[in-house]
Amino acid sequence: MFTIQGKTGDWEVVIGLETHIEVLSNSKIFSGASANYNPTIAPNTQVSFVDAAMPGMLPVLNEYCVDQAIKFGLGINAEISHISRFARKQYFYPDLPQGYQISQPAEEPPVVGRGWVEIIGDDGNPKKILIERAHLEQDAAKNKHDMHPSKSFVDLNRSGVTLLEIVTFLDVKNPENNSYISSPDEAEQYLRKIREIARALGVSKANMEEGSMRADVNVSVRRAGTNTFNERCEIKNMVSFKFIKTAIEYEARRQIEILENGGTIDRCTMRFNQGDGTTSVLRSKEDALDYRYFPDPDLLPLVITDERIERIRKTMPELPEATRARYINVYGLNEYDAERLTETVDVSHWFDTAVGGKNERAKPIANWMLSELFAHPENFDITNEIRERDADEPRIITPENLAELVDMLSANEINGKQAKEIFIKMLDGETGTPKEIADKHGMKQMTDTGAIEKVIDEVIANNQSQVEQYKSGKVGLFGFFVGSVMKATKGQANPAVVNEIMKKKLG
Ligand code: ADP
Ligand code: MG
Repeated sequence: MFTIQGKTGDWEVVIGLETHIEVLSNSKIFSGASANYNPTIAPNTQVSFVDAAMPGMLPVLNEYCVDQAIKFGLGINAEISHISRFARKQYFYPDLPQGYQISQPAEEPPVVGRGWVEIIGDDGNPKKILIERAHLEQDAAKNKHDMHPSKSFVDLNRSGVTLLEIVTFLDVKNPENNSYISSPDEAEQYLRKIREIARALGVSKANMEEGSMRADVNVSVRRAGTNTFNERCEIKNMVSFKFIKTAIEYEARRQIEILENGGTIDRCTMRFNQGDGTTSVLRSKEDALDYRYFPDPDLLPLVITDERIERIRKTMPELPEATRARYINVYGLNEYDAERLTETVDVSHWFDTAVGGKNERAKPIANWMLSELFAHPENFDITNEIRERDADEPRIITPENLAELVDMLSANEINGKQAKEIFIKMLDGETGTPKEIADKHGMKQMTDTGAIEKVIDEVIANNQSQVEQYKSGKVGLFGFFVGSVMKATKGQANPAVVNEIMKKKLG
């Protein structure tokens, strides 16, 4: 259990996260304008009349975004609501042309209901983190304050892009239920899980640096061992795992100090100051915004049939957690290797293709990938980004080629040194399969023990003084003898066979 030591005793931290991920789709949630608003695109070029809130324009729900939400919901083991609604959340800000954000109100079922993800808790055991809901909403536009000395501008390209907001659950009525985030580390793990699921399903890039994933962090503290929840503060708009952890710890200590000095915590909205890692009050409870939610009269209730849910369920790929378990249980990989091979879906697909269901290939292929291929990112995406790979974009080493190489090695057709050479030739762009490359360069393994023995005898005969030294205790010379045989056979002898015969001969 994570605790923070105060002056008067230990304190626990209670954390609730509201995470926004930007949904991948071609067009925006209620308009046909492109949802791709990256910084290279000229401002205000991807804006429909709906996104600019022209009078009389009607929103039309993008059903693909609903499918994305359902997919994500299934990925977090959640109930999908058969009926949910959209409401207007009203506030005034220059980046919100409508004067309200279309969202799904907290009082009603959201498109995605109660779910959970599993992390490893601070005590080292698996821990379920309950999720209360995930709902669809519109993103706002972007204010630009750095383009003119005295004017600010608004870029509407992001206006109306689809967000999915995922809110963790706190079981206030049943405080024994500790399935919530209770340390900075658990918060990070939870966010990584959300990111992993979103990426694996192609629901979002979930990239904090790019802003396609951001989190509001609710923090409260209570004395260790007690089980009522105290008042919390919410730190808005966090976009880095590191800052989130710093902010939680700072905010918890701030609250502890107030409580230990006899003060009380007032519900408030905080800002995180990146410069010094502190939090400060943005709005207190008295200034809290009243959003005056009301049902959006322009949008029908969102009705989702069982058939639609089942259709999407059938398209769900294996999630990275299940893939990892398969690598460990079926292929016998260790946890660390399984973890690395599932860091991106591209990597695990590559690995699965190379293994091709032949379990005996799994370990050698994993070793080659982790120790050699990961140094060559052109082969697959190991950067943890979702990147669209063109079907004909070359991979320098294909999974089929590595599989063939590994098979040749295990059939003793080539030795390890030759395999490495072929591998390097492939990296250098030599065409052909490993078999073709081996043939072309006359690489094959000498496994005929008679022939090897003959070479060994010659090496021994030609190096009598080294043999004497070896016999008088200079055992380090063993490598010299093996090396001489390998040289004489142009690297083609099977080193294991050489070792064995050499040991016998030298006595
Ligand atoms: P709001 O309507 O103010 O956004 P919600 O009820 O939606 O509040 O809760 C937002 C987040 O805050 C949720 O993740 C919830 O679990 C969390 N939360 C609620 N109460 C507390 C508390 N006492 N301490 C920490 N987090 C809390
Ligand atoms: Mg909220």
